[in-house]
Amino acid sequence: MRQTLVMGNWKLNGSKTMVAELINALKAPAAETPSVAVAVCPPVLFLGQAQALLNDSTIALGAQDADIHTQGAFTGENSPAMYPEFGVHYVLVGHSERRTLHGESDAMVATKFAAIQQAGLVPVLCIGETLEQFEAGETQAVVERQLQEVIAHSGIEALANAVIAYEPVWAIGTGKTATPEIAQSVHAAIRGFLAGQNADVAAGVQILYGGSVKGASAAGLFAMEDIDGALVGGAALQADEFAAIIRAGA
Ligand code: 13P
Repeated sequence: MRQTLVMGNWKLNGSKTMVAELINALKAPAAETPSVAVAVCPPVLFLGQAQALLNDSTIALGAQDADIHTQGAFTGENSPAMYPEFGVHYVLVGHSERRTLHGESDAMVATKFAAIQQAGLVPVLCIGETLEQFEAGETQAVVERQLQEVIAHSGIEALANAVIAYEPVWAIGTGKTATPEIAQSVHAAIRGFLAGQNADVAAGVQILYGGSVKGASAAGLFAMEDIDGALVGGAALQADEFAAIIRAGA
C-alpha cells in the first residue's frame, strides 16, 4: 500500500522567523497523523535551521533543486552530495519553474535525477503539461516524454526509489486546481505507462498531485485511487492550510 505523502515546496519564500514559526506550527499536525508522511522543502539557505528545528519531528526535509556535479568550480550551485549532512531526504527535480525559467531540458532533468540518487537521496520528479498542451490534448504525450527521458537514463527500476509529482503547469499558482477526476485520469495513465515497463515499480511508486492544492480541495484529490499525496506551493506557506492538507490525507 502506498503511503500518502504531503510535501510543501516553499519556493523562494521565507526568513529565519518564518521558518521557525511554520515548522513549529506543523509539528503537532504531523505528529497527530502518523499515517501521512510530511515533508517540507525550504530554500537551501534555511536547510540547516530547518534540520535543527526538525530534530524531534517526523517531518522530513527536502531541497528544491540540485546541481549535476558533486563538487568543483561551479559557482553558485548546490551539490546533492552536501545535502545528507543537512538531513535532506528528498530533492525536487524538473519543477516546471526550473524547466521554463531556468531552461532545464528533459535531458538535464534526467542527469540531475541520477545525480540525486547517486547521493543517496530520493528525487521527486516533477512532470506536467502547459495550458497550450492541455488544450491540444497532449498531456499524456508530454508526461510520457518527460518520464521516458529519466527511464532511458537511469532505468525503470530507478523509479522504485523516487517519487513522481504530476503538476499541470496551468494549475500552478493560478488557483485552478485540476478536478480530482482530471488528475486521477492522468495519474492512472502515468501508472499505466510505467506498468508497461515494470508492474512492481508502477504499483509502488507514489504519484503526488501539485497545482493550487488547498485544505478544501485535498480530500477530494486524496480519495482518488492513483493520487498518493500532494506537492503544495502557496498553501504550504500557511500553517493552517498546510495542516488541513495533512489531515485530509489521514
Ligand atoms: P501552488 O500550490 O502554489 O499552485 O504551487 C504548486 C507547485 O508548484 C508545487 O511545487
